[in-house]
Amino acid sequence: MAETLDLLLDNATITAKIAELAREIESDYENESVVLVCILKGSIHFLSDLARHVRLDTRIDFIQASSYHDSKTSSGVVQIRKDLDINIEGQNVIICEDIVDTGTTINYLRSLLETRNPKTLRVAALLSKPSAHVVENSIDYLGFEIENEFVVGYGLDYAERYRNLPYIAILRGA
Ligand code: 5GP
Repeated sequence: MAETLDLLLDNATITAKIAELAREIESDYENESVVLVCILKGSIHFLSDLARHVRLDTRIDFIQASSYHDSKTSSGVVQIRKDLDINIEGQNVIICEDIVDTGTTINYLRSLLETRNPKTLRVAALLSKPSAHVVENSIDYLGFEIENEFVVGYGLDYAERYRNLPYIAILRGA
């Protein structure tokens, strides 16, 4: 069966939601600075759009963790491939995650960064799946809840493909 893409969220819908999340963040951190942490690679577009909408003193850093390996199922193991450059001690940190599925990745990263004594540590997630409900309390800024489908686009990949799409689609037949 050939791979097909079914549009789930178009670019305008995603952009409008990210602007809303940015307004929430601005009101929560009024007159403060924030460090936005991009989880590579899937959160690149989310981070980039969010950072451009947040009108605060903002720094950006990158961390790379992996739990999926060229497949549609999680390995359940989180590895750090690239760590932050910024010292986050005493900083307001917002971890930006593309999609929370089981919550393994975000829980691991939250615990890791907590040990570095940030002033505050919150999580922004563009998407969350039903299986994420067990950890949903730990998502402070959530874009969209989606069904339990495998999605690609807007940073999300299937075997490194589709990250460049400006929209999010359900991948079928892969
Ligand atoms: P978790 O650790 O929450 O189970 O999985 C989180 C990571 O799995 C995400 O950062 C993402 O890389 C990957 N992931 C989970 N669901 C999907 C999906 O539907 N599509 C894609 N492309 N990646 C997913």
